[in-house]
Amino acid sequence: MRKLWNYTVSWIGCICPITLYAMLCKKPVLKTCQEESLFFRYNCMMSKFFALIPAAGSGSRMKNNLPKQYLQLAGRPIIYYVLRTLCRSSEIASVFVVLAPGDSEWLKHDWSEFSGKLVVFDCGGATRAMSILNGLKAAPDVLSIGGDDWVLVHDAVRPCLSETQLDKLMNELTDDAVGGLLAVPLADTLKRSGASSRVERTESRKGLWQAQTPQMFRYKLLMDALSRPGSMTMTDDASAVEALGLHPKLVLSDASNLKITYPQDLILAELILRAQQKEGYGECG
Ligand code: C5P
Repeated sequence: MRKLWNYTVSWIGCICPITLYAMLCKKPVLKTCQEESLFFRYNCMMSKFFALIPAAGSGSRMKNNLPKQYLQLAGRPIIYYVLRTLCRSSEIASVFVVLAPGDSEWLKHDWSEFSGKLVVFDCGGATRAMSILNGLKAAPDVLSIGGDDWVLVHDAVRPCLSETQLDKLMNELTDDAVGGLLAVPLADTLKRSGASSRVERTESRKGLWQAQTPQMFRYKLLMDALSRPGSMTMTDDASAVEALGLHPKLVLSDASNLKITYPQDLILAELILRAQQKEGYGECG
C-alpha cells in the first residue's frame, strides 16, 4: 500500500503543476497570458544546462605549431582552466569538447579529473561555427539533451572565465526567451584605417560592446540559427541568432575574461589566474 502511495505521489510530482491545474479546473492549458508566462517559467526551471567548447582551431595568430588551446599557461594547457571552471559548476550537467579530427595532442594529457562530466567529440569543422554545429548534431547520440535545454558555448582559449561571471550569465538568462552572451562596453576609441595604416576616420563607440563567451542559447534555437546558409563564417553564435531577427541579451562582464590570441596574452592571462587564486578562486598549475 505504502509503495503504491509513494508511486502515486512521485507521479503527480512529475506532472507540470499548471497542466494539473488546467485538468482539474477543466481549463485549456495556457488559457491566459498569466498562465502562459507561468508555464514558460516552469519549463525554464526544468531546462538543463550544457557547455560546448569548440576546440578545433589551429591558432595561426599565435605563431606556434601547437594549436593554442594546448599552449602552456601556468603549467597546464590553456583548455585545462576552461574545463575546470565549466566542470566545477553544479548547474552544468555535461561539458562537451569538439576537437579537430585526428587531434593527436588531446590524448597526451590526463583529463581524468573531469571524467564525470566530460564528453569528447572529434568532429571539428573548418570554421568555429562548423565545429559548434557538428558538436550540437553529435550531442543527442550520447547525451539526453532537449530542444529547450541551454547550451553555453565557450571558447577553449578563454581560460580566465570566473565562477562569478559564469553564474551571472546563467542567472540573468535562465528565464530569457532568447538567450545572450557575456560582453563588455567598448573602452577604447575606435579608428578606421585607410591606406598605409593611416586613420581614415574615428568611429563612435557609443552603444558598442565587445562580445565574449560563454554565449548561451537553447539547443533548438542554436541548431536552427547555425543551420542557416551563411552562418558558417560567423565568428560568434549570437550573430547567427541575430540573423533570425532576435536580440540576444548583453550580460555585463569584464576584461579579465580575455581570449588568448597573441603571444603576449599568455602573460596577462597568467597574472589574472594568479590574482583569482589569491582571491580564493581556483589554483594555478
Ligand atoms: O580562432 P579563434 O580564436 O576565433 O577561435 C575561437 C574558438 O573556436 C577556439 O576555441 C578554437 O579552437 C575554436 N575553433 C574551432 N574550429 C575551428 C576554428 C576555431 O573549434 N575551425
